[in-house]
Amino acid sequence: MNDVQTIGILGGGQLGRMLSVAASRLGLRCHIFEPGAAPAGDVAWRLTTAPYEDVDALRAFAESVDVITYEFENVPTSALDLLESIRPIRPNRRALAVSQDRLAEKTFLNDIGLATAPFADVPSESDLDAAIAAIGRPSILKTRRMGYDGKGQVRIGDGPAEWTGAPSVLEGFVDFSAEISVIIARGADGQVAAFDPGLNVHRDGILRTTTVPCGLPSKTTTDAVLIAARIANALDYIGVMGVELFFTPQGLIVNEIAPRVHNSGHWTQAGCAVDQFEQHIRAVAGLPLGDGKRYAAVAMENLIGDDLDRVPDLLRTPNVQVHLYGKGTPRPGRKMGHVNRITG
Ligand code: AMP
Repeated sequence: MNDVQTIGILGGGQLGRMLSVAASRLGLRCHIFEPGAAPAGDVAWRLTTAPYEDVDALRAFAESVDVITYEFENVPTSALDLLESIRPIRPNRRALAVSQDRLAEKTFLNDIGLATAPFADVPSESDLDAAIAAIGRPSILKTRRMGYDGKGQVRIGDGPAEWTGAPSVLEGFVDFSAEISVIIARGADGQVAAFDPGLNVHRDGILRTTTVPCGLPSKTTTDAVLIAARIANALDYIGVMGVELFFTPQGLIVNEIAPRVHNSGHWTQAGCAVDQFEQHIRAVAGLPLGDGKRYAAVAMENLIGDDLDRVPDLLRTPNVQVHLYGKGTPRPGRKMGHVNRITG
């Protein structure tokens, strides 16, 4: 695939935008396909604005690129089937299928010998009582599909249990002392390069900060990287993947995998010679990967909603790299940008 000139990206949000910038630095072009508003369109070679049901638009998009990737995992199957009949999709469909569905994801992880929270399938509301009896309280009910940033989740405490409204999984509550994530890349030749695990802090289900180094013992960070590598190999993965883990007294538990560049990997823009976006572009274009080595301690903070008001001050702060996504009006809970603060 060394003759890749043009990369198609499904999804036009900030991840697609930063992928497009990285691709352009390598002399490659990106074509974005996005049904809605597309901050990535501002910096890409081409933008197609069309729904995933528009067969003609999908076909023209696929024919204009050499390889297709995505920054958003909930692309409808019918669109993927059509696109894949024209151009390769990287990471592959199995990685997407596993990460689109929390039940398939947890089953896959257990099948390859990795620990997850205890879970039960809850196909409908009438199955909820039996699932709570099996898993216990406290627990978390999560929709199988379309969940992100804590959406589609209901905490089950002592009171009556609310239903999510869609087929779900019930997860036992994990008493973790830290949340970490590994951003790992795997090339078409099977070469793997991991970035250092980052420590993640969430508020209201949304990632607020990622800090490297994460402060956990090196045995734990090595285990985390080995877990991520096992997942990438098992999926015959090509591209960058985010693996979120809980650190517990019993060891590491995999929370979820994202088959794409990940918010908790933004620190690599200030900490590594080749950041996660360039690494993903290199992988899907069939180019050699960067080594993932970290050259700085970095604290990444998301700028959410009105955090945007802090930008003038942040621009005056030494050792701070400001990234803005060009999204227009801030809304509560909306990721507007992020900063990478070099701390050492
Ligand atoms: P998720 O969408 O699955 O990544 O969940 C969002 C956040 O909810 C996680 O980052 C955790 O902070 C918390 N969370 C999710 N699942 C569990 C669990 N089984 N036990 C405890 N906390 C959880």
